Amino acid sequence: MNVLLKLENISKGYGDARSANYQPVLNNISLEIEEGDAIAIMGPSGSGKTTLLNLAGSLDIPDEGKIIYKGTDITNLSKDEVARFRSKEIGFIFQMHHLLPQCTLIENVLLPTLPVKDNRDARKRAENLIERVGLWEHQHKKPQLLSGGECQRAAVVRAMINNPGLLLADEPTGALDHENAVHLIELLMEINRTDKVSILMVTHSEELALKMNKVFRLKDGELNLISNS
Ligand code: ADP
Ligand code: MG
Repeated sequence: MNVLLKLENISKGYGDARSANYQPVLNNISLEIEEGDAIAIMGPSGSGKTTLLNLAGSLDIPDEGKIIYKGTDITNLSKDEVARFRSKEIGFIFQMHHLLPQCTLIENVLLPTLPVKDNRDARKRAENLIERVGLWEHQHKKPQLLSGGECQRAAVVRAMINNPGLLLADEPTGALDHENAVHLIELLMEINRTDKVSILMVTHSEELALKMNKVFRLKDGELNLISNS
């Protein structure tokens, strides 16, 4: 298996490292995400799960360590390069869907394609994904007319629209009931298998975490593998 993303000896904290109120969060963490991996991260609130995802998605840089995506150290890219890298290679899903209320479902899904140079196939791809996730008849509706589960599935389509190598999902089922949560995870796993996208997901649910192929626990600044199937 090829390694897609490698976090190498990452340390990260908040505040001035030389001052007394510096708060260490991640302590010398390493993680390899292989192509095709579906990884869950569990851990107590405040343990640094979102911090870890932000680093993996190039939204933040570590205090120490390297982050290597397909052989390139993304902590050394310029601002423009990192923005281009992120929009092409990373899809984000959050607890809240963050769809724009004034746009229809398909308009929301197409937003990330606007800055991309060659986006001629975007609409076809959007329609294809929308059909696959069961939202075909809703594509011209605005988010307020959709259920929470439908909005979150639209957010998955939006995250996949630029055909990323890595999906980062930060408690994506946190606002859903159990049935919709299971449905969303099954959708993510189907996309993982079919579209060859790797997934790194934070969840509080052990049941949902165990549907992924690897589960890690983050605690006291350390990341440990607790299940590998
Ligand atoms: P989790 O997602 O596991 O709940 P976070 O990564 O959000 O944890 O936060 C880890 C710790 O870092 C928490 O104590 C939080 O208060 C702190 N923290 C997170 N983001 C910031 C920030 N931008 N500035 C200062 N402290 C932060
Ligand atoms: Mg968090």
